[in-house]
Amino acid sequence: MNPTRRPVIAGNWKMNPATRSEALALADGVAGRMAALDLETVVCPPTVWLESVSASIAGRIGVGAQTMAAQERGAFTGETSPLMLAGVAGWVIIGHSERRQYDGETDERVGLKTASAVAHGLRPIAAIGERIEQREAGETEAVIDRQLRAALARLERIAGSGLAIAYEPVWAIGTGNAASGGDAQAVAGQIRAILAEVGGGTAAAEVPILYGGSVTAANAAEFFTQPDVDGALVGGASLDAEGFAAIGTAATFAVELARGR
Ligand code: PEP
Repeated sequence: MNPTRRPVIAGNWKMNPATRSEALALADGVAGRMAALDLETVVCPPTVWLESVSASIAGRIGVGAQTMAAQERGAFTGETSPLMLAGVAGWVIIGHSERRQYDGETDERVGLKTASAVAHGLRPIAAIGERIEQREAGETEAVIDRQLRAALARLERIAGSGLAIAYEPVWAIGTGNAASGGDAQAVAGQIRAILAEVGGGTAAAEVPILYGGSVTAANAAEFFTQPDVDGALVGGASLDAEGFAAIGTAATFAVELARGR
C-alpha cells in the first residue's frame, strides 16, 4: 500500500447469488460492515440485481457492473450500455478473464470499453493477467505489457480518468492457489512503470493497482503490504460479507502501516 492512494476493495460476485433477496442481504451485510472503513468498497452484482442493490445501499459503498458494451445503444443482444449504468453503477469491471475466455473479449475491445466507461463517467477496473501456460513459458511480462497497453490505448488521458487496473493471474482465479506477494508486486511494479511511460508521472502515482486471484482474509495482508498493490479484486471471498469485510480491514491496517513507515 502507498498512503497517497486510497485502497480499493472490489467484490466480483460473478453469477451469484441466485435470488434478489440474497443479493440484497449480501449487499446490506457488506455495507453495514464496510461503509465506515477508509477505503473504496465496491460490490459488483449480476446486472439484473444492479439497480436494486444500488438503491438498497444508497451510496454507502460503491456499486460496479461486471462488464458493459462499449456502445451506447443498438443491436447488441444481451448487452448493457454505459448509458444504462448511469446512476446505477459508479464502477465497471472490463476484460475479466472469464469474459476473455468464454465471451471472446479481445484486447482491442477491452481498450474500447475502458475508454467508453471513462467517457461515460464510470470508473473502469481493467483486468489483465496471464494464463498458466503463458506463465510457465516465461511470457508473463509480455502478456501484461500487451494487455495493459491495449487497455490504455483509447484513453485520451489516464490521469484524472478514474481508471483502476486489476492484475489477475488466470491460474490464481478461483483455484485457491494465490500468487505470492512478491509475484503480485513484481507485476504491479511493471504495470506502474508502463502507466508512467504512457500516461506520465501523475497517472502512475494515482492509478490504483489491485491484485486478484484467491484473495481471502487469511492472505490479504501479504498483498496489501506490497508498495504497488492498492487493493484487491475479490471473487469467491466477496460472497461472504464478514470475510469480505475482513479483507477491507486488512487493507486499512496496511495503509496505517505504510503511513508509519
Ligand atoms: C475474480 O473473479 O476476479 C477473482 C479474483 O476470483 P477469486 O477471488 O475467487 O479467485
